[in-house]
Amino acid sequence: MRLGVTKNDRLVVQRGDEVVDATELAPGGGRGTGGPLHALVDAGWEPREWSADVLAPLPVVPAAELVWKSPIPRPTKVIGAPANYREHVAEMAATSTIAEWGVFLKATSSLIGDGDLIKLPYTDKRTDHEGELALIIGKTARHVGVGEALDHVFGYTCSLDITVRSSEDRSTRKSFDTFTPLGPWVTTADEIADPGDLELRCWVNGELRQSASTKELIFGVPELIAYASSVMTLLPGDVILTGTPAGVGPIVDGDEVTVEVERVGSMTVGVSALGATPYDKRPGA
Ligand code: MN
Repeated sequence: MRLGVTKNDRLVVQRGDEVVDATELAPGGGRGTGGPLHALVDAGWEPREWSADVLAPLPVVPAAELVWKSPIPRPTKVIGAPANYREHVAEMAATSTIAEWGVFLKATSSLIGDGDLIKLPYTDKRTDHEGELALIIGKTARHVGVGEALDHVFGYTCSLDITVRSSEDRSTRKSFDTFTPLGPWVTTADEIADPGDLELRCWVNGELRQSASTKELIFGVPELIAYASSVMTLLPGDVILTGTPAGVGPIVDGDEVTVEVERVGSMTVGVSALGATPYDKRPGA
């Protein structure tokens, strides 16, 4: 099943070729700061609960009303995976991989949705796109083994891990507002038997910049969950970005960036330099 959240906090679901409004089926009518999808995840909902009979009476949402928001706008954390594809490690001239670096955290306030704008913070510092497969945790996970890790996934979605190439810690360079586009559709885990066999592509202005299979991940999805849960408790709704393949490059004002993950979906966002300032004018410089 594919689920998404619109700007007006409606929970929408794909029903055949149509999109329907399922907000009324979300716990508490989908109200609450986490939005309707997070409420569903917290309730331990399973896709089989929404049979064709349950979805049949729901109203169709016209395509023009599908203005997206991050499907999970306020997770307790967004976890990132540095240097998790060997060819990307090589292009970054890095000597370490995720095995040495471990995971990092991004501010949850950096999340935006499909159709939104990435806002470049600096006029004179390179800012890169990193197209990534993302997953949403469905069940609390702590010290989870590789073999049971996938049981803790709610679903998969498209993401970008936008990054300023400057000297600060990753958590700073990747946490600017708008730096984590996510969505629009979350494909539930029951439809993705093997997240380690998905084609991932990223285009800028229609030019293919990244193309790889998640087969090439150093820490695959089960290993990432096992590792992250050995450090911190993963809570329902938490987002894990699995890392980016080779081909990262700069984005500039007016660009359009698209990420597509096989069987998961496709997301497109714009890029704006409105309000960007020179790096040496940042506070404290
Ligand atoms: Mn990344």
